[in-house]
Amino acid sequence: MYFYNFEPLKITLARLEHPKAKSNIMIDVKKLSPGDLKDNPVLGQMGQYNHEQLLFCNDNETGLKAIIAVHNTTLGPALGGTRMWMYNNEMEALNDVLRLSRGMTYKNSISGLDLGGGKAVIIGDSKTMKSEAFFRRYGRFVDSLNGIYITAEDVGTSTQDMVWVHEETNHVCGLPGKSGDPSPITALGVYVGMKACAKLQYGNDSLSGKKVAVQGAGHVGQYLMKHLHDENAEIFVTDIDKDALKKAVDNFGAKVVGIDEIYDIDMDIYAPCALGATVNDDTLSRLKCAIIAGSANNQLLDENIHGKAVLEKGIIYAPDYAINAGGVINVYAEVKGFSPEWGLEKAKEIYDTVYQIIKRSTDEKIPAYAIANKMAEERIEAAMKK
Ligand code: NAD
Repeated sequence: MYFYNFEPLKITLARLEHPKAKSNIMIDVKKLSPGDLKDNPVLGQMGQYNHEQLLFCNDNETGLKAIIAVHNTTLGPALGGTRMWMYNNEMEALNDVLRLSRGMTYKNSISGLDLGGGKAVIIGDSKTMKSEAFFRRYGRFVDSLNGIYITAEDVGTSTQDMVWVHEETNHVCGLPGKSGDPSPITALGVYVGMKACAKLQYGNDSLSGKKVAVQGAGHVGQYLMKHLHDENAEIFVTDIDKDALKKAVDNFGAKVVGIDEIYDIDMDIYAPCALGATVNDDTLSRLKCAIIAGSANNQLLDENIHGKAVLEKGIIYAPDYAINAGGVINVYAEVKGFSPEWGLEKAKEIYDTVYQIIKRSTDEKIPAYAIANKMAEERIEAAMKK
């Protein structure tokens, strides 16, 4: 018999347990003991984080097994992608969908979008199990929620899969010929968010002459380096992909540093644009930067520990889900039928969002990620009162 993987819950619970970060709105957090959770894994966990709905989908014919979680729809329909993953057991999938859907509520709220938070997971092998019938069946499940949940692609699903989903429902975005590659908007958001950090750290938001270390010269990294180059920043870059590095050197005069060396170089700004969890005990003892601002998800290994550690070290950290919101802004434009130009303008608002988060974090001496959570919750709270 399987037992739970409590890891994801432990992290989010730790976040909520931070005395100042605590709020009674989003989640009237009901603490459950491991014993309670074992006996009440579904409604117990939903109650713990105040999830609104969970839909379990099964289709023996196609082999589809999916869970759709709607966390909060106060601000609008719940938007979040569909992840396809070989979970070890159902409880892992359930934990993931509950955690990720809740994360989307915060991300959509802090980004000023009229969207709630949702997410879906499909349990299975994305390399062998996919077919048109499989995703059309999934599309009918999505459709049965009547637009309360809007889906998109995520890890393990592709644009083609969403095209099949779209055969059965209109509640899907990220389709070909629609919002397209989110990377330029994400990079713009990271760039303006980085400038907001500079304003608070240095008194003005110019990045000219600043040493910026970009980890990951992929889609977002390249567009980000273009902005940095245009502003005469000094760019250092690392990547495992030689072609990506060559582009960075040729186009933006970036200086290449080693994969591990990046944490030790003399820099002003560290921009993680590749991997999660790169802000941890080891790297924090080495990083000499004054700002951490990049597109990667889940940059802090442990939000509670490393969020506090960066604050104590005087490093300004732009919470990842606020600064990398360009992607979700991009699909929001698609949902609303707005133009890509609207998306680019909206992404510029990330400057103000990051500025407010950091200002409050510094004034109140509370880690930036906790302030971001608080601000996301306050917006929902205000909407609930209307
Ligand atoms: P990408 O795959 O295009 O680029 C990632 C780059 O990182 C690749 O060039 C890869 O070779 C490199 N890389 C991998 N391992 C590395 C390592 N150990 N050290 C240095 N570089 C390494 O991805 P992307 O679309 O540019 O996204 C970058 C990050 O931002 C990801 O974490 C992604 O989840 C996040 N993000 C992206 C978007 C978006 O719009 N693309 C939106 C929100 C968040």
